[in-house]
Amino acid sequence: MSEAEAIRTGKRVILAKPRGYCAGVDRAVQTVEEALKLYGAPIYVRKQIVHNRHVVRTLEGKGAIFVEENEEVPEGATVVFSAHGVAPEVHEQARSRSLKAIDATCPLVTKVHQEAKRFAAEDYDILLIGHEGHEEVIGTAGEAPEHIQLVDGPQDAERVTVRDPNKVVWLSQTTLSVDETLETVARLKKRLPMLQSPPSDDICYATSNRQHVVKQIASDCDVMIVVGSTNSSNSVRLVEVALDAGARAGHLVDFAREIDDAWLEGARTVGLTSGASVPEELVQEALAHLAARGFTDVEEVVTADERLTFSLPQELKRDMRAAAAHG
Ligand code: SF4
Repeated sequence: MSEAEAIRTGKRVILAKPRGYCAGVDRAVQTVEEALKLYGAPIYVRKQIVHNRHVVRTLEGKGAIFVEENEEVPEGATVVFSAHGVAPEVHEQARSRSLKAIDATCPLVTKVHQEAKRFAAEDYDILLIGHEGHEEVIGTAGEAPEHIQLVDGPQDAERVTVRDPNKVVWLSQTTLSVDETLETVARLKKRLPMLQSPPSDDICYATSNRQHVVKQIASDCDVMIVVGSTNSSNSVRLVEVALDAGARAGHLVDFAREIDDAWLEGARTVGLTSGASVPEELVQEALAHLAARGFTDVEEVVTADERLTFSLPQELKRDMRAAAAHG
C-alpha cells in the first residue's frame, strides 16, 4: 500500500514521546560498555543490567557475562551491579570475594534507598509499595529489613500492621503505575490517617512521563503496542495504563516480528511506545513493520521534553581518568 493510499484509508500510527531509554538505563548500559573498553572482557554483570532482552544479548556479544549472584563471579574479577539496585549485603559479599564492584544503580533508586535508611534510623515503620520479588524491591527492602514491609497493590493495604500508627511512612518502587499507587496510598490512609508520604516522588520521572503520554493517546488507539520485555515493570505497566485509559487492545512485544497481523485486522490507529529500557532502534523496527502493513502515516505526540542525564559511577570514572593520565 502506498503512503497516499494509507493516509486515504486512515491507517495511522500515533507514536508516543517520551518513550524508550531513560537516564538511568542509558547510564547503566554505558557503564558496562565503558567497563568492557577499560578493563577488557569479560565483565561480569549481576542480574540483567536493565530488563531488556535485546540489550542483554548485545552486551553479551561484546563480552559481558550475566550472572545471578556474586558467587558465580571468579574471585578478584570485575562485577557491575544492575540499574535496579542491590541490598547492602550484596556489596559485602563482593568485598569478601575481593571483587571489583561497579555500582550502576540508577541514582533515582539510590534516592529511595537513602529515604529507607533515613526513616529506619528514625525508627519508622516503612510501607514499601512494590511488586514482590522485583529486584529493586529486594534491594530497597535490604536496606532495613526489620523496618520495611511490602505492600503489593491496593488489596495488600488491608493486611498491613504497624507498631505505631503515628510513625509510619510509605515509599515505593520507581516503576509502578502512578494511578494504582495513588489508590494503594488512599486505602492505606483510610486505615492509617497519619501515614506520611515520601519527601519527593519515588515513582521516577521516566515512568510517569511514559504513562502520561500513553494516557493522552490511548482512547484514539484501536491497539497499543508497547515495545519492552515481560520482566520490565515499567513496560508492563504501560500496557495496563493504555487499556485503563481506553485503548481497545494492548500488547507487549520484545521485537517487531512478534507483532501479530491478527492484532492489526480492522485497526485504523495503532499506538506505539516503548519502556524505559528499550533502545530506539527496536521502535524504528516496529514502525517499519507497521509501515509494511499499510500504517505509513505516523504522528508523534509529545507531552514532555526529557533532558536529564546521569554521570557514570564514580569508581568507573576514577579508573577512566587514571587510564587517560597514563596515556
Ligand atoms: S526507570 Fe526511572 S528509576 Fe528506573 S532506571 Fe530509569 S530513571 Fe532510573
